[in-house]
Amino acid sequence: MQVKEFDVVILGGGPAGLSAGMYAARGNVSTAIVDINMLGGQPSNYLDLENYPGYSKIGGYELMEKFEEHADKFGIQKFAMQEIKRIDLVSNPKVILTNDIEFHAKSIIIATGASPMKLGIAGELEFLGRGVSYCAVCDAAFYKDKVVAVVGGGNSAVEESIYLTKFASKVYIVHRRDELRADKIIQQRAFNNDKIEMIWNSCVREIKGQDTVSSLTLENMKTGEFAELSVDGIFPYIGICPNVEGFSGQISQDKLGFIMTDETMKTSVDGVYAVGDVRVTPLRQVITAASDGAIAAVYAVRYIESLKEITV
Ligand code: NAP
Repeated sequence: MQVKEFDVVILGGGPAGLSAGMYAARGNVSTAIVDINMLGGQPSNYLDLENYPGYSKIGGYELMEKFEEHADKFGIQKFAMQEIKRIDLVSNPKVILTNDIEFHAKSIIIATGASPMKLGIAGELEFLGRGVSYCAVCDAAFYKDKVVAVVGGGNSAVEESIYLTKFASKVYIVHRRDELRADKIIQQRAFNNDKIEMIWNSCVREIKGQDTVSSLTLENMKTGEFAELSVDGIFPYIGICPNVEGFSGQISQDKLGFIMTDETMKTSVDGVYAVGDVRVTPLRQVITAASDGAIAAVYAVRYIESLKEITV
């Protein structure tokens, strides 16, 4: 087992982690980014972003490549595809143990993001990859000229529905209320799209099929009536849950598991910061994730400098 020592180890290489990496390395501390996947995070799967300042439209993958290239310039070390075995945030040094490396860090910045929430209904796991998908950009092409349903009323559900209309012949948006949560500009695009039909006040209760999905059982929340909807696929976009496996319970979290921080991104544990979608935050965007990363890295560098003063 190799031991690698760094001043700062950043867990997660999405926009928050890459921004933190860039700022930490510029702060002249040794910096590593460790990720269980490739670097780039969730935005790598977004088709286009239209709300990152400086770019009226840019592919998610392309923007994340630019983030990574920029962080590379300042000499961060990157460890992708790491299987994480143990994380100890409280020990001194802090430890992240992967299959073949034991990382020791003075400070850790958690940038692990969030994952799609599951509906938790019959058929959801059974038909995963056979009609159930959580990534329209990845799987939309499989639904050329087919009928699909998207569940949810937030930005993700509505944006991904619009994307799915490039392939599918029909996209139902099944929403539990009669009003969308998504930004008004995105809502308007969906309402203007002939291929999109709204199914209001409805929840999906079961996903049915033989080899692949063929229908959904819907419950009308106002009337209590049940109905069958024929579809070839379903894309649940009902929100996100924080990726905190391996360290949940070592720091203060809210009841959903999102990490609590102060305005410097500091968590309840000295030297540990949390940034981006994994923390309690009023806005989850690439721009806010990048901003969080910058703030956390500046304060992590100050924390490391304060340790030197204590040692001297
Ligand atoms: P979200 O904003 O939390 O929306 C989740 C949607 O799913 C809501 O409409 C909610 O209904 C519905 N829902 C929740 N639980 C449900 C259940 N059990 N059954 C049926 N419906 C359920 O989540 P999101 O769209 O994934 O977005 C996550 C964050 O990323 C947000 O902050 C969002 O703004 C951000 N984001 C931004 C962009 C962008 O700016 N371009 C793109 C994607 C995501 P209610 O409305 O009734 O609560």
